[in-house]
Amino acid sequence: MRVPPLRHVPAAMTTAASTVWRGLLRLLAPPCCLGCGAPADDGPVCRSCLRRLERADADDLAARLAALPGPASPFEDAFALWVFDQGGTLRRIQHTLKYGNRPAYGRRLGALIGQAHRASARPRPDLVTPVPLHRVRLYERGYNQSALLAEGLAETLGTPCHPEALRRIRATRSQTTLSRRRRWENVFGAFEVAVPEAVTGRRVLLVDDVLTTGATATAAALALREAGAAAVDLAALALARG
Ligand SMILES: [Zn+2]
Repeated sequence: MRVPPLRHVPAAMTTAASTVWRGLLRLLAPPCCLGCGAPADDGPVCRSCLRRLERADADDLAARLAALPGPASPFEDAFALWVFDQGGTLRRIQHTLKYGNRPAYGRRLGALIGQAHRASARPRPDLVTPVPLHRVRLYERGYNQSALLAEGLAETLGTPCHPEALRRIRATRSQTTLSRRRRWENVFGAFEVAVPEAVTGRRVLLVDDVLTTGATATAAALALREAGAAAVDLAALALARG
């Protein structure tokens, strides 16, 4: 019998422990709809709350991206699924996705983006990749919520997903209190392509969770274009109400 190298044991144990822990959490606190609180096994929202979520407007998103300072928008096509309001259901979904240790929600939401993307006959990408977190933040959170969205979306589209094609080379300060211009200055040049051969000559679909000014996604897309991506499109879970 082949014995696995010792260095693999801790990772396996960590995974098993986290699976057990998540199972316990589900028993103690079964998933509730983040919209109405009713039981929602599939989470994060029940079917009726899902139907009530407001869809984002493509023109609003295009105008938001065009209003950024700096170069023209690097996106050929841009899509956001829902509208994000402070205090609304999407806010609770985003918070649970980022901090609530529910990675399955990320893949499920990604699949919903994928279904809407497919239904709208948008250009089909060669590759799906998320806006990356800086490694320090990734370590703190345990996962990148946008990478989970990207996995669910890619699976629905039947497209390869490369979760680490991009790299965040600079930790950026929190954007929440910054103006549009300061947000842009904060993230410009914060990304580089880690795997150029995955990107060069390809049509890449970049995935983000919630777009506010679009500065972060735009900075990431510029890095993809610089590395030779044939085109870069954008898909996001939500667009913050302007
Ligand atoms: Zn509900």
